[in-house]
Amino acid sequence: MTVELISVGTELLLGNIVNTNAAFLAEKCADLGLACYYQSVVGDNEERLSAVLKAAIGRSDVVILSGGLGPTEDDLTKEVAAKVAGRELYMHEPSKKQIEDFFRRRNMEPTGNNWKQAMVPKGAIVVENENGTAPGVIMEADGKKIILLPGPPNELVPMFEKSIMPYLAEGNSTIYSQTVKICGVGESRAETMVKDLIDKQTNPTIAPYAKNCEVHFRVTAKAENEKEAKKLLKPVVKELKSRFENHVYTTDVDTTLEKAVVDLLAANKLTVSTVESCTGGMLAARIINVPGVSDVYKSGYITYSNKAKRKILGVKKGLLEKKGAVSEEVAREMAKGAALISKAEVAVAVTGVAGPGGGTEEKPVGLVYIACNVCGKIKVKKYNFDGNRAKIRETTVSSALILMRQCILEYYSEVAFGKKLDENADRRK
Ligand code: ATP
Repeated sequence: MTVELISVGTELLLGNIVNTNAAFLAEKCADLGLACYYQSVVGDNEERLSAVLKAAIGRSDVVILSGGLGPTEDDLTKEVAAKVAGRELYMHEPSKKQIEDFFRRRNMEPTGNNWKQAMVPKGAIVVENENGTAPGVIMEADGKKIILLPGPPNELVPMFEKSIMPYLAEGNSTIYSQTVKICGVGESRAETMVKDLIDKQTNPTIAPYAKNCEVHFRVTAKAENEKEAKKLLKPVVKELKSRFENHVYTTDVDTTLEKAVVDLLAANKLTVSTVESCTGGMLAARIINVPGVSDVYKSGYITYSNKAKRKILGVKKGLLEKKGAVSEEVAREMAKGAALISKAEVAVAVTGVAGPGGGTEEKPVGLVYIACNVCGKIKVKKYNFDGNRAKIRETTVSSALILMRQCILEYYSEVAFGKKLDENADRRK
């Protein structure tokens, strides 16, 4: 089945608001196994909306419109959709009552134009709006479905999840997805590594999504029921895991990279401290976003100036002068100093040139060093990131998390192989 999305609202065309509804609906429709080939945004204009809707009905099985169900004159989605579908509007008493109750609960009086929202096309399925006054509408004709949803996301999201998803899933086979999240492998390399699988698989399908320093593979199976769908997913997820080995940090859709790192620290009873220069606390903030992080996070330092690097972390003045603040040696000393003063088993240090100024031929904008100290075993990596200041800082944070994860895994695999570890390891006891 194909689905098409139409977002209605002049403010969307003007860029006054971001079209989060389209992103949400597109993702949910993909989860349902509906193929979405077209999306459009149209202003509050009868003629243009009518033309877009007619074209959509002509080429898609399901058309979902969002916005323009409000009480004012320029809200005309329902009126246009009813006209295109050749249906008259009538007063839907349960919706009228719902609007009365909505206002009563708020000690407010509805205005005359509120009743416009209780007018629905004849023969339509009316979908209750638990968070607002505009009911949703489903019209079915000639094998096509037209679905109208209110624009405010706090109304659209719960209505879609509670009523529209089960409606669209009905009669359809079950769709079940699992996401395999990998880090530390570039997007094109990751895709090349599984191209044969992506090309070969029709059920389940594999869809790659690139995120900052991560690639997520959404594996989606269609089957009679959930059990069958899971059965189809299992060997494909297993294959992805075996191809990417420990680059796979989770197969749980809700687990973020920072959560995976925090879980890894907690599982190994490790604490962590961060020391940042160009990211100015962003790394600490991202780690601290994870609920329950207090068990593992010790302290964060922002040592932006050379003086701070010397005074707080004990980086030698001579080293700073000789190698410069953005250097492998200084990153290493920062990670060493942070572990020493905070007594954390893991310390991560970041130093780099985020730009736009400050770059030189030898040390260009985007040059970043990240050092990770796991119980005295320090690894420093050099990066050359692209992009503007914000992008460089964001990429640095993700890369620091990836390096932390890698260093902790390496540290423990060495323990497992019985290799000799740095003497500082006794600090863990
Ligand atoms: P209302 O009853 O509030 O008028 P409506 O169904 O008529 O609802 P709109 O008037 O189109 O919806 O939008 C109301 C508000 O919902 C907008 O001001 C905007 O904040 C939000 N909104 C609308 N469309 C979108 C969208 N596509 N993505 C994100 N937010 C949206």
